[in-house]
Amino acid sequence: MEYTLKSLEEQWNSIQPQLLDEYGEGTYTSWIKPLSFYDNHNGCLRLAAPTAFVRDWVKNNYANRMRTLLQGANLNEVQVDIIVNPTQNKQENTTIPSVLDVPDIGSNLDLRFTFENFVVGQPNELAHAAARKVAESESVAFNPLFLYGGVGLGKTHLMHAIAWQIKKCHPKRRVIYLSAEKFMYQFVRALRFKDTVAFKDQFRSVDVLMIDDVQFIGGKESTQEEFFHTFNALVDQNRQIIISADKSPSDLEGMEERLKSRLGWGLVADIHPTTYELRLGILQAKAEQMGVSVPEKVLEFLASKISSNVRELEGALTRVIAHATLVGRAITLDTTQDVLRDLLRANDRRVTIDEIQKKVAEYYSIRVSDMHSPRRARAVARPRQVAMYLTKILTTRSLPEIGRKFGGRDHTTVLHAVKKVEELMAEEKTICEDIELLRRTLET
Ligand code: ADP
Ligand code: MG
Repeated sequence: MEYTLKSLEEQWNSIQPQLLDEYGEGTYTSWIKPLSFYDNHNGCLRLAAPTAFVRDWVKNNYANRMRTLLQGANLNEVQVDIIVNPTQNKQENTTIPSVLDVPDIGSNLDLRFTFENFVVGQPNELAHAAARKVAESESVAFNPLFLYGGVGLGKTHLMHAIAWQIKKCHPKRRVIYLSAEKFMYQFVRALRFKDTVAFKDQFRSVDVLMIDDVQFIGGKESTQEEFFHTFNALVDQNRQIIISADKSPSDLEGMEERLKSRLGWGLVADIHPTTYELRLGILQAKAEQMGVSVPEKVLEFLASKISSNVRELEGALTRVIAHATLVGRAITLDTTQDVLRDLLRANDRRVTIDEIQKKVAEYYSIRVSDMHSPRRARAVARPRQVAMYLTKILTTRSLPEIGRKFGGRDHTTVLHAVKKVEELMAEEKTICEDIELLRRTLET
């Protein structure tokens, strides 16, 4: 059999489907498709972007991933650089030094995931404070720090932020950050090459060990065993351990009891689902970072419509900005709705207000007529607020329309209800569960 090494250009072409798959049609069309192969500059793949804006955006957001994908097919270190296409814009034909070349642990840290870029709100306040404490304090604060929460709520961002901050405040500390998946991969490899001593040395000689997405080793017994010993060895030497997962230690599936119990020894901090305020704050921060002025109305619209997770929220904003930039038009509510039609349709479950009122009343054992009545007793007022909240989230009705449907109430009453419910959700687990359940029954 004969193997030929593909040129960087061919490799670039061959990772396109993967990029399309990972980032989705919208992002791909806006940012990646406009790039073209420029040259192979001493092993550095140089791509040409149509504008400086696209160049910067791609560098900050996708270049790392591109490099990782290309690395798979190459023995030597691959660099990716992006330049502005000189045929379109001559004076901008400057090659910016690659931002991807961060030494040691920095190499697997995302440049954007810093504390400065993390927007703090009620749902992530505790996790953020704990993360800062661990990163900045002189001694071991809590061991381990265990961060958990749903997909796309900022766990990895906080982990990277801790690592960056330690690098800054305590540059001498040896930090290892890796996903549980990588940990397992390295462990299995060490076993195969009979190199477990080096493996153990490597992990047991660090000052800070950070493992992301630890749920991954659920059911992987020997990896858990090794992790458990590493964990104990480090704790014994008073070294800091920081873990993230999608569930609390006690809820982790396929995890040994003794490990679960150990993981819960230090500080367990959960990140709650985002509230409207936090989503708005994040959107404002992102728009500002990108140096684009987006009308407040558009941000409010996105914050109320895209409530699933921060990753989707960011994706939506990026698309809106990309579209406006590429077609050279201002961002308005209309263009936003247009650009995000498919995404909004997916979020638009076509639930009616009547259904919501009926289901919520049923759930809380009150009468449907109480949804319209002026009664303010807590027993009916709270379910009514929940119903208003769900209407805001699940339908495209405006606040005044919702008010009218709830016994002719004012739109400020509806807004108050929405905020109230979000506050309660951040504080009480039961209400989160109620809403989750209701949402699910309504959506199916
Ligand atoms: P997780 O690891 O919990 O699945 P990530 O940390 O990867 O989620 O976050 C997904 C995206 O959302 C990232 O781009 C991250 O920067 C962004 N993000 C999440 N929470 C925040 C926040 N509070 N402020 C700013 N960006 C956030
Ligand atoms: Mg993550």
